[in-house]
Amino acid sequence: MFSEAMERSLAPDGGLYVPEKFPQGAAAGLNGSEAIAEIAERVLKPFLAGDRLAADLSEVCRRALNFPIPLEQLDEQTAVLELFHGPTAAFKDVGARFLAECVSRAVPGPSRTVLVATSGDTGGAVAAAFHSRPGIEVVVLYPKGKVSERQEKQLTCWGDNVRAFSVRGDFDDCQRMVKEAFSDPWWQEHKRLISANSINIGRLLPQMIYYAQASLSYLAKTGRPAGFVVPSGNLGNSVAALWARKLGFPISGVMLAANANRAVTEYLRSGSWKPFPTVATLANAMDVGNPSNMERVLNLYPAIEDLRREVRAFSVSDAEIRETIAARRWGRVFCPHTATAVRAREGLPGDWIVVATAHPAKFETIVEPLVGAKVEVPPALQAILSKPSHAVEIGAGLAELQGKIK
Ligand SMILES: *Cc1c(COP(=O)(O)O)cnc(C)c1O
Repeated sequence: MFSEAMERSLAPDGGLYVPEKFPQGAAAGLNGSEAIAEIAERVLKPFLAGDRLAADLSEVCRRALNFPIPLEQLDEQTAVLELFHGPTAAFKDVGARFLAECVSRAVPGPSRTVLVATSGDTGGAVAAAFHSRPGIEVVVLYPKGKVSERQEKQLTCWGDNVRAFSVRGDFDDCQRMVKEAFSDPWWQEHKRLISANSINIGRLLPQMIYYAQASLSYLAKTGRPAGFVVPSGNLGNSVAALWARKLGFPISGVMLAANANRAVTEYLRSGSWKPFPTVATLANAMDVGNPSNMERVLNLYPAIEDLRREVRAFSVSDAEIRETIAARRWGRVFCPHTATAVRAREGLPGDWIVVATAHPAKFETIVEPLVGAKVEVPPALQAILSKPSHAVEIGAGLAELQGKIK
């Protein structure tokens, strides 16, 4: 059941949840011009059949997907899907908002705690989505001094039920603290933890919807199916694209655009899976050496030949990210993450949709010097930047966090 999978996050055997089946026929009768919430309701309905949230699905979709997700044609064979028009200007708003709507409906009883470690964008999207919701506390851990100023603001501006902790350590320390909390009886019993990173299926399922809509719109407009070029880190967004394809939406292929973290690119080349140590890059939200959603990719394509038929991967260096941003392709300014996809698209024949995962204004210290101009800040982000910050600094240990939380 969806609700159970969402609340547990990890299956009892320690693995990640995946859909049991991908019901065909989801695309029938749709052409992409429908409202995104309507497409979401149609496509997600079978996944929630018999679930206690089934009756709420329509409202969940309408509330979660309440901002535009435009698909714009860039040239005859290229379009861009802009996923950054939500409250925190990155695609993670989609999954976080859907999860928040579900969690606040699914869980009766004493209050629950959403505990999340973030290297940048996830924590902001989760905090924004769960802010002010009754019965839910949010605890965000981020590595002190290792997120951009604007990302930090998005973690620390909320107050109320959201608490942000600036951890003296790196992202791996934050993740380790979260993992320890999830296996600690005190946290489980007193805090009733819920995970909000992309191992949670409640975040991934709604991400299929923008791929569904964009693939239909592109086909309706050009008469040809397109593939997606997805800036990839932990592979959550890419898995959502692969699942949408599996549901029968007209997606001709998926290109995983990576930064200098090459685990997936190497896998497609060599055929043997092995994680790498994480490398810090300009596209920091994609700095993952051992992507947790690889398990879901392997589940979908147990044989490397099948994966190679439908999926490609391309790794982009920081120097290439800089060049691509500075080139202002199609007269546009891209964020460092999106730039990896723009670069990867350049070597591909055929029709492709570049997935724009964040607004360039979130990474202005990288982008502005490269394009020699100010990047205009979208209104939702501006509103966040003008709020005061609250963060508590702690060492990288769970006991100290527990002392501050009680
Ligand atoms: C999180 C993030 C990514 C990577 O997405 P995954 O689902 O982890 O592969 C890419 N771009 C931006 C802007 C992000 O915030």
